[in-house]
Amino acid sequence: IVIDNMRVEFESGNTKTIAVDGVSLDVQPGEFVSIIGPSGCGKSTVLNVIAGFTQASSGKVEVDGKQVHEPGIERGVVFQQYSLFPWMSVRKNVEFGLKTQGMPASKRTTVARTFLGLAGLLAFENHFPDQLSGGMKQRVGIVRALVTSPQILLMDEPFGALDAQTRVVMQEILTNMWQRQRISVLFITHDIEEAIFLSDRVYVMTARPGRIKAELKIPLPRP
Ligand code: ADP
Ligand code: ADP
Repeated sequence: IVIDNMRVEFESGNTKTIAVDGVSLDVQPGEFVSIIGPSGCGKSTVLNVIAGFTQASSGKVEVDGKQVHEPGIERGVVFQQYSLFPWMSVRKNVEFGLKTQGMPASKRTTVARTFLGLAGLLAFENHFPDQLSGGMKQRVGIVRALVTSPQILLMDEPFGALDAQTRVVMQEILTNMWQRQRISVLFITHDIEEAIFLSDRVYVMTARPGRIKAELKIPLPRP
């Protein structure tokens, strides 16, 4: 991911909001990078542009050397509230993305069960979302984003709604999965401790209009 001098404006009627301005950042292959900053500084806007949900007004926004205009299967996204399909079992929810990729049914089930096992969810494969706790639903959401093997995982405060204890478990699951797959992760949080625990590098954004104020390089040794 390479962003250079990006500006994003939102217009509604006669009002123009500059959500972010002059933002430059990069995420190298296999790197885990976090963005922190106060509410409203533009973190979600940056992520939504990379995901292809929002258009930048100006500046370079490249993934794999190509300017981003729309969502793509190589970019998995996880939000704070992950919306699972309520009428599908946990396993069917996880298999959904594999189905759209054309994987045969028996292979889908094997792959889904492998990932559910990694996330400690295998015993719940036949449960439905409303039978699960918040933490478990969020785990299913992350598994669903990872199972299609995206090259990039974009996460917008994925653990924000969880209690402290569950968050620690989820952080460990994410770290384990990241270590196995070595995908690139861009992770948004307003929790500096969480950013330092998880990341290779942390960007700090300031309040409106959102700018990258400082780049902290956090040299954490990885096991
Ligand atoms: P953060 O994720 O850091 O809380 P956001 O990216 O959500 O910040 O918002 C950055 C700024 O852009 C805020 O001032 C917000 O009100 C504004 N903004 C975000 N999305 C929209 C939108 N769709 N329309 C108008 N303004 C928006
Ligand atoms: P929360 O997000 O509400 O804090 P967790 O996701 O940490 O909850 O789940 C706590 C534990 O409760 C899980 O590890 C699981 O063993 C158990 N649990 C939650 N929901 C169910 C369920 N529907 N059936 C059986 N056990 C469950």
